[in-house]
Amino acid sequence: MDYLAGLNPQQRAAVENTEGPAMIVAGAGSGKTRVITYRVAHLIQKGVDPFNILVLTFTNKASKDMRERISKVVGAEAKSIWMGTFHSVFAKILRVEAQKIGYPPNFTIYDTDDSKSLLRSILREMQLDDKLYNVNFVYNRISAAKNNLISHTEYLENAEIQAEDSGNKRPLTGVIYETYTKRCFKAGAMDFDDLLFKTNVLLKTHPDVLNKYQQKFRYLMVDEYQDTNFSQYTIVKKLAAAYQNICVVGDDAQSIYAFRGANIQNILNFERDYPELQVYKLEQNYRSTQNIVEVANSIIANNKNQLEKNVFSENESGDRIKVQRAFTDNEEGKLVAEGIMQERTSKGYNYKDFAILYRTNAQSRAMEEALRKLNVPYKIYGGLSFYQRKEIKDLIAYFRLTFNPGDEEAIKRVINYPRRGLGDTTVEKIIVAADKHDITMWQVICNPAQYIEGRIANQLNDFAMLIQSFAAESKKLDAYETALYIAQHSGILKELHTDDSIEGRSRYENIQELLNGIKEFAEREDIEDRSLAIFMQDIALLTNDDRQDDKEKDTVSLMTIHSAKGLEFKNVFVVGLEENLFPSQMSLNSRTDLEEERRLFYVAITRAEKKLTLTYATSRYRWGTLTSCEPSRFIEEINARYLELEVVKPTKSVLDGQGFSDERRTWTQQRDSFSKPKPAAASTANTSTPAQRPKTSILPKAHVPTPGFTASNPAEFQNGMDVEHEKFGFGKIVNLEGALPDIKATVFFQGLGNKQLLLKFAKLRIV
Ligand code: ATP
Ligand code: MG
Repeated sequence: MDYLAGLNPQQRAAVENTEGPAMIVAGAGSGKTRVITYRVAHLIQKGVDPFNILVLTFTNKASKDMRERISKVVGAEAKSIWMGTFHSVFAKILRVEAQKIGYPPNFTIYDTDDSKSLLRSILREMQLDDKLYNVNFVYNRISAAKNNLISHTEYLENAEIQAEDSGNKRPLTGVIYETYTKRCFKAGAMDFDDLLFKTNVLLKTHPDVLNKYQQKFRYLMVDEYQDTNFSQYTIVKKLAAAYQNICVVGDDAQSIYAFRGANIQNILNFERDYPELQVYKLEQNYRSTQNIVEVANSIIANNKNQLEKNVFSENESGDRIKVQRAFTDNEEGKLVAEGIMQERTSKGYNYKDFAILYRTNAQSRAMEEALRKLNVPYKIYGGLSFYQRKEIKDLIAYFRLTFNPGDEEAIKRVINYPRRGLGDTTVEKIIVAADKHDITMWQVICNPAQYIEGRIANQLNDFAMLIQSFAAESKKLDAYETALYIAQHSGILKELHTDDSIEGRSRYENIQELLNGIKEFAEREDIEDRSLAIFMQDIALLTNDDRQDDKEKDTVSLMTIHSAKGLEFKNVFVVGLEENLFPSQMSLNSRTDLEEERRLFYVAITRAEKKLTLTYATSRYRWGTLTSCEPSRFIEEINARYLELEVVKPTKSVLDGQGFSDERRTWTQQRDSFSKPKPAAASTANTSTPAQRPKTSILPKAHVPTPGFTASNPAEFQNGMDVEHEKFGFGKIVNLEGALPDIKATVFFQGLGNKQLLLKFAKLRIV
C-alpha cells in the first residue's frame, strides 16, 4: 500500500524524517494525528522493531483507532507497538518495576472515588471542618502538586506554598497530603496522578531502569502534546534523552486541560530543550468545509494568547452554520433529535455520522430524552463508566482484596457489604488501631483480639478467612471461575438476586455482564497470563468507551467537548450555547479562563466535517430551578455571513417539556435582531421581497403573524398554560390566585422572570 501518496509534501517530510527531534504545531484537522500514524507505519516498514516504538495518545480510543490504521499498512506487527494513554502505558511499566520503589507488583489503582473517600476519612480523623477543607479542594490541590512533581515533603518545606495555604485558611493541606501519601503507600495503592508521579520517581532514582526504557523506546511520539502536564513532560523528556528521536504534535489553540495542570509552556519548552528541532507546518484542513474552517479561525482570533498559524480548506464551502434557539432545554433536545432525523433521511446519513457535544455531562439528560422519544439510537461516551457502577465496584473491591488485602478502600467498601455486623464504628476502630500501631487495616482484621476491644472478633475472623479463601481459590481456578466463586461466596449475587425491583434486576444483570466479560478474557488465546489478577490490573483506567459490546453499532454519539478531542463527525451539534454554561460561569472572571473556554469552543466546532449546528435555550432547569439564559457570546463572535439563524416559536407545553406540538413554526432573523429576538423583526423581514434583501441577510422560512392582542378573558386561563404578552413576549403561567373576575396570574417570561398580572387587564394570548 502506498501510504505516502496520501500525504501532502509537509506531512510527507514529517513522516519520512524519522531521526532527531521534531515538532508539528498546527490547526485542527490538518492531519497531525495522520502524520503520527503514518510515521509509525513508516518506521516499521523501514525495519524498526515495533517494540522500540512508544506512542502516547490522549484517549484509549485514539490509540485503538491508530493501531488499526497502522495494521492496515504493516499487518500484525502493529500489535507490538507500545501505544496508549500516559496512564495506561506507565501503569504497565510500573507493574513490572513497582517493587523497586517499595510497592507490590499487584498494587491497586485508586480511582477518583477511592481517593476522595480516603481523603474524607483523613479529614474526619484529623477532625477538620469538611466545609473549609472541602474534599474536592484538597483533592485538586494534591493533584496539582503531584502533576508539578512536588512531593509532600517538598510541599511542606516550600514557604511559598505554605503561605498560600495559610492565606486560604487551610494551613493543614500539606499535612493531609502527607497522611494521604502514607496511607496510599501502606495500602499498596497508587492514585491516577501517582501513575505519572511514581514513574518520575522511578526514573529519577533508578538510572538502570531509566536506561533500560531509553534503550527500549528508541522512537517516541506524542499526540495532543499541548495538553501534557509537567509530570508527563518530564517523563517524555527523560525517556527521549538518549536517542532524541522524539516527535510531538499539537495545537495550542486546542489546549483545554489547564485546569488539570496542562501547560502550554511545554510547547515553548520543547524548542528550548531541543535546539536541533525540526519544525513542520501544516496549514491545510482536510476535515471540514470552508465555512466551518473560517468560523473556527474567526472564533480563535478573539484569543490574545496564541501562536500564529494559517488554516485553510480546499473542501467545498458547504452549508452555513445553523444557529437554533429553543425555549427550554427539552425543546432544545427535541430540535436536535428532529434535526438528526431530518438530515439523516434527506441526505442518507447513518446515525453514527452525528455527534451531540455539550459543555457539561448534566446536559445529556434532555438530549437523551428527546432522542428516545424519536427512537434514535445513541451512545453516551465518558459518562458514568460501567466500571464505576456501585454493584460492579463492590464486586471488584472483593477482587482487589483477593490480590492486595492491604487495599484500605476496598476493605471499607465491602467489610459490611453484604451486611455482616461490621458497621461504621468497627471500621473506625480498625482504622484507629492500624494508625496507632502503624500497620494496615488488614493486619488488624487478621488479629482482632490483639488490637481492638469489643465482641466483633468472630465476625472479623470470618471476614479475614473469607478473603483468604478467595486468594487460595484464585491460585487453583481460572479467571472466570475465580470471579464466579467470589461473586457467590461474598454473598453479592444472592443479595442482588433477592432485590426484585427494576434497579435490583439491572444491577444483577450488570454483574452477569461483568462475569461474561471475564469469561471472554479467560478464553482469549492471544495472551499468556489469563488470570483474574491480570484482568484486574488497571481496570480503574477503563472507561465506558473501552467496552467492546457495541463497537460497530450505528448510534449517535453524545459526549462532552473534552472527550471529543481528536475525533471527527460528519454532522455536529454543539448544544447549550448560553452565557454561564458555555462559557461556564466559573470562567467569566479572568481572561485566561475565558480564553480556555474559547479554545474549547474551537475544539467543538472543528469536530464537524460537513455540517455544524449550534443551539441554545432561553430557559433551562439548573440546580432544580427554571433559569432564564442569554445566548453565548461565542455565537456573537461569529461573523454573521457564515450563519443561518433559526428561532423556534415556543409551542404548547414546551416549557414543562410535556410532549411536543407538531405545529412548530420557524423563522429566521437578521443579524441585528439576533441577541434580542423580536417577532416583529421577523415579520418585517418577511414583508421585504427577495430583491430588496441585503446579500448577507438570512431569509425567513415561515411567516409568523403578529398576534392581535386584546384584553383577556380571565376565565380561560389555567395553570401551566403557555401564553404570549404584547410587551413581555412568551411565557408560562406558573400560578393563579384570587376569584373571578379578579384573578391574578404569575407568569414566567423568557429572560424576564416572573411577572404578576391581573388577568382582566393583561392582554394575554394563549399559544
Ligand atoms: P485534530 O487537531 O482535531 O486532532 P489533526 O490535525 O490530528 O486534527 P487528523 O485527524 O489527522 O487531523 O486529520 C483530519 C482529517 O483529514 C482526517 O480524516 C484525515 O484522514 C484527513 N487527512 C489528513 N491529511 C490528509 C491528506 N493529506 N489527504 C487526505 N486526507 C487527509
Ligand atoms: Mg489529532
